Amino acid sequence: QPPAMPPPPPEPRRRSRQLRIGNVLVGGDAPVSVQTMTTTNTADVDATLQQIAEVTAAGCDIIRVAVPTADDAAALPAITARSPIPVIADIHFQPRYVFQAIDAGCAAVRVNPGNIRKFDDRVEDIAKAAADARVPLRIGVNAGSLDPRLLARHGAATAEALVESALWEASLFEEHGFSDIKIAVKHHDPLVVVAANRLLASRCVYPLHLGVTEAGPTLQGSVKSAVAFGILLSEGIGDTIRVSLSAPPLEQVKAGCHILACLGLRPRKLEIVSCPGCGRLQVDIHKLATRVEAAFGGFPHPLRIAVMGCVVNGPGEARAADLGVSSGNGKGQIFVKGKVIATVPEAQIVNRLLEEALRLAQEDPTP
Ligand code: SF4
Repeated sequence: QPPAMPPPPPEPRRRSRQLRIGNVLVGGDAPVSVQTMTTTNTADVDATLQQIAEVTAAGCDIIRVAVPTADDAAALPAITARSPIPVIADIHFQPRYVFQAIDAGCAAVRVNPGNIRKFDDRVEDIAKAAADARVPLRIGVNAGSLDPRLLARHGAATAEALVESALWEASLFEEHGFSDIKIAVKHHDPLVVVAANRLLASRCVYPLHLGVTEAGPTLQGSVKSAVAFGILLSEGIGDTIRVSLSAPPLEQVKAGCHILACLGLRPRKLEIVSCPGCGRLQVDIHKLATRVEAAFGGFPHPLRIAVMGCVVNGPGEARAADLGVSSGNGKGQIFVKGKVIATVPEAQIVNRLLEEALRLAQEDPTP
């Protein structure tokens, strides 16, 4: 038996300059935060607040709302007053909305100084208003909106082009003495996101917001984001994340929280360890795992529940979990904290697991 290799030491966290976004610290040694964007019309205050409440309950730390119209800008005071988490206004072309967002109590504003300069050179005024209100600005670039001059020079939205664009945008504010800046460089290719953020991390001290933009539908987008964020965060790079999916914001937040939990950067919630199934299956494991997942939706205690399809690996995994079932011959052997406590017919497995979970939760009420 060869000696076990010790795990490699974790990479030290990159020490970015810390910002305060409302009551959430970003950068430095602050926990990595999860963001998403609302998909409602921002001007529809009730619908927007409802969506913010849903994502907050799922673990979202900071919410961004798009502000493309005057009605959206006018709705910001009502939203910031009632939102349970800090609100970032996302503004592209209209400098006047930036001032409205700051006055409305937005905790930060996402701006594109390159765009604003094209239309109305008010970068200095924005820097002053943000500094006076102590409101950080998020800047940066998406591959799809890269400055045409940089695109022509680099031939494509390469990592170097994205970083050059972001640092140029930062310099527009730095010229006016403003440096409460967070940067995001986004691309649909996770490997370009990794390369760009590594480069950016080596060239500035600003906190970095990670995102694989236009990542795709839920499965594809979650995988792409997990790959990029997993690499970068394990290297200590990244201060906030957003999983951009063609799916509701709630799914984006759940995916972001899962990624952080897998990396040990956020406490785990309830976890289901279920086997993939193989030719030895003695139960419809996919159906059983789905039923267990549905039964435990929203269960607040961070239990690990093993749902296993046969006796090859079943007892081992079920014993190692807080709660588990090893299935076989129309029955399920129920394990609690490593011990077999019952064998029940297949139809009773889910209910029995739920009963035992509630009992465990009562015995140790601290989730
Ligand atoms: Fe196959 Fe059994 Fe392993 Fe499930 S637990 S994958 S059924 S060997």
